[in-house]
Amino acid sequence: MFKKTLSLLIIALIVFSGYLAFRTMTAPDKQSKINALPAPALSDSALLHFQEAIRYKTISFGDTSRWDSIPFIQFRQFLEKTYPLVHLQLSREIVGGYSLVYEWKGKNPSLKPFILMAHQDVVPIEEGTEKMWTVDPFAGTIKDDYIWGRGTTDDKINLISIMESAEKLLRSGYQPERTVYFIFGHDEELSGQQGAVQIAALFQTRNIKADIIIDEGGFVTREKVPGMSQPIALIATAEKGYMTLELSVSKSGGHSSMPEAETALDILTKAIVRLRSTPFEARFVEATKDFISYLGPSMKFPNNMAMANPDIFQSLIVKNYEKSGSGNAMIRTTAVPTILHSGVKDNVIPTLATATVNFRLLPGDSGVFIIRKVKEIINDPRVIIKVKNDRIIEGSPTASADGIGFKRVDSIIKSSYDSVLSTPFLLIGATDSRYFYNISDNIIKFSPMEDPIGFHGIDERVSLKSFRHAMWFFEQFLLSAK
Ligand SMILES: [Zn+2]
Repeated sequence: MFKKTLSLLIIALIVFSGYLAFRTMTAPDKQSKINALPAPALSDSALLHFQEAIRYKTISFGDTSRWDSIPFIQFRQFLEKTYPLVHLQLSREIVGGYSLVYEWKGKNPSLKPFILMAHQDVVPIEEGTEKMWTVDPFAGTIKDDYIWGRGTTDDKINLISIMESAEKLLRSGYQPERTVYFIFGHDEELSGQQGAVQIAALFQTRNIKADIIIDEGGFVTREKVPGMSQPIALIATAEKGYMTLELSVSKSGGHSSMPEAETALDILTKAIVRLRSTPFEARFVEATKDFISYLGPSMKFPNNMAMANPDIFQSLIVKNYEKSGSGNAMIRTTAVPTILHSGVKDNVIPTLATATVNFRLLPGDSGVFIIRKVKEIINDPRVIIKVKNDRIIEGSPTASADGIGFKRVDSIIKSSYDSVLSTPFLLIGATDSRYFYNISDNIIKFSPMEDPIGFHGIDERVSLKSFRHAMWFFEQFLLSAK
């Protein structure tokens, strides 16, 4: 009897292994095969323009009283001076005081337009970190084949590359078949309320529907996808949502010499511990499923087998993702406390304790659903939960990997970048394009640069090679606007 069971088990195991191997070997290769055209050499003038763009302190301060309009006006004048043909032949509109919308009329008005987006503003240099920079963050220094400075990677590389390509094509007499818009917001880092939000509303009143929108987002990486030897273009087809909750507890305090069993601060910290130790459910959203099916076949054993059979290896894949903060963020809604407030004096028990907790919502996890979950997890009615600024930004819809947006960006990155693989994926951050889902079904978040460094941090920089390729990417994209 035992022998019989054992041999049945062995047979089942062989059949199962065969099934896994079959699925691994027959997983379709979704990589389009396109040979790259060599990118033109980097011109001195383009480089000088990029360097100058970094020198304008177009800063979005969290404390809006520090906001200064002068650099934005100067930056606009710099664009006018530097790209004369763009300003002569495209029409330009200023929205919300400082955001810029350019319209490059196409020959064929029956075709739906393309939209290219980038933002003018940059994040400030965090106080106390100025001395940690190797160079002056607003000098536009070139060093070790990189352009250094605040805004190089986020997002002036895209803005300048778009303008350089357009000016170059205008010089050659080119006019696109379809209309192309450039949208350059001025407050993306402050959630785009004056810029992108207003522009999206304007486009809606004009009933503009675009076939493709490209905004900042993923990039080409040699480092971020473990186990892959080729560079990979991470082309985001969806982005996570954003919500901030304020948790507060009030309870009579008193003198710290006679503490009650539980204080407001105790109740709040217990709630935070519960929240942090109860992760939300892990799930593969559509963009992540696409990621698995696009890259799986190019991975080595056993990763390719796991990726070809995600239903069977889900828990293994999830465990792998959970190892890093960025991986974990791809598979679940995350919550993290970012600000705590309580207490005024060392011998007074505070009567009020508050925590600000930031959530990044997986598409499909609505804000309302997550708030209900948070209440369940904390399970203490003394903790009052409020949505900060009454604003919930839900996770975005997903652009289909079979749609014109992904397909076009995929083919152009491959024709402008040597031996790159590409894949859809879920963007963790938030972009201005999240306000444009009524304008287009094909919103792609992708910056054509390779492994930017110091994003929002110290020594932000991008390689000269990236800049050369970004211009090449946008030139080919504009040429494809037919
Ligand atoms: Zn940005």
